Amino acid sequence: MAKNKKRVAIFSFTCDEGCSIYLIEIFNKKLMEWLEKIELAYFLSVKDKVEIKDFDISLVEGVISTAKDKKEIEKIRAESKILIAMGSCAATGQPSGQRNLFGASEAAEIKTELEANDYLPKCLSIKEAVRVDDEILGCPIDENKFIEVFEKYLI
Ligand code: SF4
Repeated sequence: MAKNKKRVAIFSFTCDEGCSIYLIEIFNKKLMEWLEKIELAYFLSVKDKVEIKDFDISLVEGVISTAKDKKEIEKIRAESKILIAMGSCAATGQPSGQRNLFGASEAAEIKTELEANDYLPKCLSIKEAVRVDDEILGCPIDENKFIEVFEKYLI
């Protein structure tokens, strides 16, 4: 582990991954500066999978839609000092939790499929699934807000 650097992890659950793609745009401008203070410990978009363990800051996008995802976000929470809900899906459950808005007939159509594949009855925002320390709204995230929130935890 790099000495004194914050271990930062970025996770995607059910969504179009638009926030983490946009985050790469922000990294293009800011990562060289941030790398003096952070180590990118987990980011599937740019590196191989590594163990979920001992993170200082976890950024999480998307919604929790399966029982397996629920266990994983609970593990991430337990291994993260700070957990930030990144984007509207993570903070509010929408737009990626659209099935929560289905009417009775649409919900009945997908019920068997959900049960057969270990899906939760409803999608959960990250905030509904675990305690979060902060949030960054926007679809995708707002760049200035991301920088403002993220840099608070680099001190
Ligand atoms: S908030 Fe929007 S851009 Fe971000 S993951 Fe959800 S749908 Fe994609």
